[in-house]
Amino acid sequence: MNDENARILSHAEGLLRAIEPVELGDGPVYLLDAASAAWFDSSTCIGATHPSFDLLLRPILESQGRWRGRGFACLLDVEWFAANAKPWGWRLKAVCRTTIHELAHRVCFPLSMLDSDVTEAFTVAAMSTDVAVDDVVGHGGTWLRALCHLAWRANATPWPYRLQCKADDLGDHGAYRLSQFRDYADTLRREIVRHHETPLREVLATEPPAAFVELLANESDDSGRVLRRGYPPNSGL
Ligand SMILES: [Zn+2]
Repeated sequence: MNDENARILSHAEGLLRAIEPVELGDGPVYLLDAASAAWFDSSTCIGATHPSFDLLLRPILESQGRWRGRGFACLLDVEWFAANAKPWGWRLKAVCRTTIHELAHRVCFPLSMLDSDVTEAFTVAAMSTDVAVDDVVGHGGTWLRALCHLAWRANATPWPYRLQCKADDLGDHGAYRLSQFRDYADTLRREIVRHHETPLREVLATEPPAAFVELLANESDDSGRVLRRGYPPNSGL
């Protein structure tokens, strides 16, 4: 990996730690180039995580001298970002958006799954348009709620980690058919501001605002079914 990409991944790690410090704690954050994992199929997604990705990736991390014990791990298709987001700033934003997407998955994984040493290799798609994939990994209401919080926190984070992107950028509504991402974020605005320093797991364990639930209930297309399947917390995992 060249120095530029290494700097981008370092920046993304700093952003993740800034917006959800309790979840990540002092543990390692492993953001790896997908090309380093031969078994990973990056044809349908540009980023992925899994409760046991750190264990699955351990041999690679050890070979690179990077293994520091269990922690949050993502695979990122660095080649895709380099080809599709050439300017440094664009690539930085695209990588940060994807890692935030994956972090939203992480805070939805039950702690029992994170503690488990089970390493079945299923992947979490970041950019898949395949609803069947969504069925497996839970791009549901809980994940969406977490994403709305993380998006706001990322935008509110001071330089040098500030992301400065619109909410819709993180919602990736084209891929997930989240036609109303901005509306979801609006229903959560008061909660998001009040709890911007609260560990997300604590927030997700509470009842969401009625307007958020109502918006979910009114989704009528495929995305609505997927979103509702992922709600209440952890039911879609
Ligand atoms: Zn995902």
